[in-house]
Amino acid sequence: MSRIYLDHAATTPPAPGVIEAVLRAMREEWGNASSSHSPGQAARRMVDSARVAVAELLGARAEEIFFTSGATESVDWAVGSAPRFIRGRGDRLVSSSVEHPCGLSSARRVEEQGWKAVQAGVDGGGLLDLEAFKGLLAVKTALVSVMLANNETGTIQPVRDAARMAREAGALFHTDATQAVGRIRVDVNELGVDYLSLSGHKFYGPKGVGVLFVRRGAPLEPFMIGGEQERGKRAGTMNVPGIAGLGVAAEMAVRCLDERAGHARKVRDALERGLLSRLSGPEINGCPEPRLPSHLNIHFPGVDAESLLMALDVSGIAASTGSACASGAAEPSHVLTAMGLPRIRALSSVRFTTGGENRMEDAGPAVEAVVTAFERLSRSSPRAA
Ligand code: PLP
Repeated sequence: MSRIYLDHAATTPPAPGVIEAVLRAMREEWGNASSSHSPGQAARRMVDSARVAVAELLGARAEEIFFTSGATESVDWAVGSAPRFIRGRGDRLVSSSVEHPCGLSSARRVEEQGWKAVQAGVDGGGLLDLEAFKGLLAVKTALVSVMLANNETGTIQPVRDAARMAREAGALFHTDATQAVGRIRVDVNELGVDYLSLSGHKFYGPKGVGVLFVRRGAPLEPFMIGGEQERGKRAGTMNVPGIAGLGVAAEMAVRCLDERAGHARKVRDALERGLLSRLSGPEINGCPEPRLPSHLNIHFPGVDAESLLMALDVSGIAASTGSACASGAAEPSHVLTAMGLPRIRALSSVRFTTGGENRMEDAGPAVEAVVTAFERLSRSSPRAA
């Protein structure tokens, strides 16, 4: 049975060049990047060139890039730990109701440290309600955190406008760009953000490595203390293989962005057209545009999403209900319910995300498999009545 992987938002397969860089760092350049001898300096050079590549990807300076273990850590650092280092700007965080679970947890963490956290809502298409957002900024706000693109629906948020409003209100701005990086152009200066988080494995890099961008002059305190790594801000022996792989992934993301986005969009659109033309009930969740080229979140009325995913897995199709971190739980997606969709609709919705693992020819068999599974489950589901 040939497998069709339609879950690129959960993770992407490491690119061959990434694997080579990881292997080289493990086999040859295995020195400690903090050592001053030659093996250490060879490892250090891999880290340095990865930092330059990531900076180039984001339009940032190399010294504004801090390597972390992934976006969860980066968000926890910039947002969850903000009360430790953002001072003199009030004690309030404004975020959105559709942040990734790591963003929601960070908002709870700032409250544990005495700040107040409030959430701006989204409209029925999942877009930030900018008027309501502006209203929230009327109260003195220290930090705003709004994701660049949603992991479940792919909706691209008006971060540039939101960051401008935050700046005018005297607040610093963080964006979780984990889903956006490698799929659309992301430039920290065009967006006007002070902090940005990303994870390597979402754009063909290794797992367990990510980045926090911190604009020069923006406040920051160490996340982990111990050694002097990452200019004393994030201690611990550096993950040279992961960082080297991330650097190659960043270079490729710059070089291949248009080609990759165009390919993902073609496959996604073929899947979307196929499903909507073959089935009368299903509808897209979230606004069709602005949306990442890879994402398709569909409501299959009367069918339990988990049962549909299991049936698809048996036929070789890998998809998901949204946030991989929340999968397995029977709770409806907080993103879809924040958009005002009923709980029952959220529990009947599936996310397909396309990317480098797909060929154009995958769309037809994937549509067939979904149509077959949906029709069979519709006949047997009590909800179908
Ligand atoms: N933020 C968003 C929008 C994500 O989609 C994810 C992963 O799904 C994360 C943060 C967390 O990334 P990681 O698990 O690599 O730390």
